[in-house]
Amino acid sequence: MKRILILGGTAEARKLATQVAQIHDIDPVFSLAGVTEKPLDPGVPCRVGGFGGVPGLTRFIKDKAISIILDATHPYATQMSRNAAAAAQATGTPILHLERPEWEQGPSENWIRVPDMQSAVRAMPPGARAFTATGRGSLGFFADRADIYTCLRVIDPSPDPFPGNGEFVVARPPFSVEAEIEVFRHFDVTHLVVKNAGGQAARTKLTAAASLGLPIIIVDRIPLPAGSNTVEDIDAALDWIAQQC
Ligand code: NAP
Repeated sequence: MKRILILGGTAEARKLATQVAQIHDIDPVFSLAGVTEKPLDPGVPCRVGGFGGVPGLTRFIKDKAISIILDATHPYATQMSRNAAAAAQATGTPILHLERPEWEQGPSENWIRVPDMQSAVRAMPPGARAFTATGRGSLGFFADRADIYTCLRVIDPSPDPFPGNGEFVVARPPFSVEAEIEVFRHFDVTHLVVKNAGGQAARTKLTAAASLGLPIIIVDRIPLPAGSNTVEDIDAALDWIAQQC
């Protein structure tokens, strides 16, 4: 029996877990950071919360006799992916990173590519009305620009008021192109700020922004360390798991 640790936080991770649960001789353990109050059920045993950095994850791998690791975290969950790679190396555990391909620029899309959130916020002119879903961790960057109105879409309501000039928009994905157009019109949005998350479901906001002629400020990914074992889709991840068994 092989025990697989699936690091989740994405729709792909949940889909993968459902399929792994069907494989004989595999015992899946799913892991979530605990950032969403009511996460969708991955359908396999799930633990929630950080491990305590590389040392904590290394202990977890040994204590739970983890045989293989599937890192299916979000492409921008850079810390977790790096910790997982380091703990895998320390314990000699095979690891695979499942990372969706990046979005390519559509012909009618006006992309402004930037290396980080700070540059994304700097790229907007005074008086801009930004719409973003870059996570609460990006709030500090927007709070520095009181001359910009920011709508930050989040899944869970915030216990705290919006820090600075803007508001939270509480909604759970997925969103259709039509719904995104409506929301951008409602908030009188002038700029969309996105991470290059990839995947069709989240791409609707880019299509909506393009149809309204809005500039899209796109924060580039930080690549995984050179030599990382990476696949782009669930089928390839399942093939790798089969090889490990
Ligand atoms: P991060 O910066 O890479 O990780 C921060 C810390 O959160 C990690 O060091 C780890 O804590 C803990 N952590 C992250 N993912 C975990 C998991 N699957 N299981 C257990 N602990 C986890 O991650 P983030 O950007 O804050 O994202 C947090 C979670 O939200 C990730 O699981 C990610 O897949 C999901 N998510 C992120 C984004 C995004 O834009 N970043 C978007 C959608 C979903 P310890 O060091 O204590 O182990």
